[in-house]
Amino acid sequence: MNFHILTLFPQMVEQGLNTSIIGRAQEKGILSVETINIREFTMDKHKKVDDYPYGGGAGMLMQAQPVYDAYLHVVEKIKTRQRPRVIYVTPQGKTFKQEMAKEFALEQDLIFLCGHYEGIDERVLEEIVTDYVSIGDYVLTGGELAAMVMIDSISRMVPGVLSNKESGETESFSDNLLEHPHYTRPEVWRGKEVPQVLLSGHHKRIEEWRKEQSLERTRIRRPDLYEKYLSNK
Ligand code: SAM
Repeated sequence: MNFHILTLFPQMVEQGLNTSIIGRAQEKGILSVETINIREFTMDKHKKVDDYPYGGGAGMLMQAQPVYDAYLHVVEKIKTRQRPRVIYVTPQGKTFKQEMAKEFALEQDLIFLCGHYEGIDERVLEEIVTDYVSIGDYVLTGGELAAMVMIDSISRMVPGVLSNKESGETESFSDNLLEHPHYTRPEVWRGKEVPQVLLSGHHKRIEEWRKEQSLERTRIRRPDLYEKYLSNK
């Protein structure tokens, strides 16, 4: 799977996505993460990419032309016959969820558009964006962190990115439940013992215990999810 990120701050994204599991998947060739510096596409001789908003108001806006030309550069490169999926990360989008990560993971190429300042001229958004997605109801200074959050989560759903040991299938949000608690060595830490059932080697009892814990944890911490779980049963 190939991620193409249109941004004014490519280094931020590159550094954030070059380590650990996502970095390893890139080395193996399962994923590629390409950043496209929007500033390189401006026609302004001073490399300016923003301007004042019509109608007045606070802040600056990213202009349409450099964003559009950066997008065309990617489209030309990926040579797809279909219109590529372009995600504008914005607080005004649908809230990102695990099901969305699964759905986006089916694409061969995904283009992320990161805004900055007050955002981006609406006309270029109308022209290129297919999905408006937010990471939550708060405002960030730029879209880079939001794109990184989504790319990390989508990547985990791409076959081969997680090893068998790290499998994402039983993690939180599958089935609308949070995952059960985990323990590792030592058996006793600051007087706290690992639950005996986990040391029993009795797989059926362990599974039952984990399911109970998962249900209880979801009921207490995320009653909204718990309701969904019950109504889908
Ligand atoms: N003026 C915009 C508004 O009120 O909707 C906010 C602009 S914000 C300061 C700058 C950029 O950060 C946005 O264009 C967007 O790309 C990104 N951003 C901010 N909050 C975000 C969020 N919750 N989820 C995704 N992207 C976000």
